[in-house]
Amino acid sequence: MPSSLSETFQQAYRDLLPGDPMPEFEVRYYRFANINNTIRVRQGRIYARISDLLEGAPAPVLYAILHILIAKLYRRHIDSTHAARYRKFTGSSRMAEKTHLIRQMRGRKRIEGAQGTCYNLDEVFDQLNAQFFHGLMARPQMTWSGKRALRSLGHYDPAHNTIVVSRVFDRPGVPRYAIDYLVYHEMLHLRHPVKLRGSRRVVHPPAFQQEEKLFPQLAEAKQFLKHLGSLD
Ligand SMILES: [Zn+2]
Repeated sequence: MPSSLSETFQQAYRDLLPGDPMPEFEVRYYRFANINNTIRVRQGRIYARISDLLEGAPAPVLYAILHILIAKLYRRHIDSTHAARYRKFTGSSRMAEKTHLIRQMRGRKRIEGAQGTCYNLDEVFDQLNAQFFHGLMARPQMTWSGKRALRSLGHYDPAHNTIVVSRVFDRPGVPRYAIDYLVYHEMLHLRHPVKLRGSRRVVHPPAFQQEEKLFPQLAEAKQFLKHLGSLD
């Protein structure tokens, strides 16, 4: 299986239109509001945009979507194996949940407070405090995001001693370890204030990063949060 998007495009094109010269093309990931993929021709050049939600998808899935797009563009028969493979991947529950989150994240949000519908941030903090800090950390103001903080999954505001977590995570489908990780990361910001090295702000100094690795489900949490936005 080819590795890059461009190679995958070329492979899918050759398989569908063997013998045809390779057209000029541009294929890249694009940040759509949901899973969406487009293809169009402008002045003889093909432009394919693949949803950034598919970034990191297995190679056969990427091949499948490019096959579908190119077949559509050239009115060729769409191979049912590829159609099924793509449908199966995007229909998986993890993917559906992610899409839902992204839609909310890129949309809007509501009121504030530590008590959410599913998770209570004070309780999350207390549990992490006991688990990682011997219960020694003073609890800052904990709040789900209101209308602001749309771009950020979570952040610590030292001026108001407040940890804000994006409200989109206050949902039953969101694994507890993802919330825990978001809060744990912000707790480390309390512990490791931003340092200045010359004129440069060191937000995640080595000591911070070392301590972050103590979180047992770090890899899973990062994987879950991938594509959802950035963490301050
Ligand atoms: Zn951070």
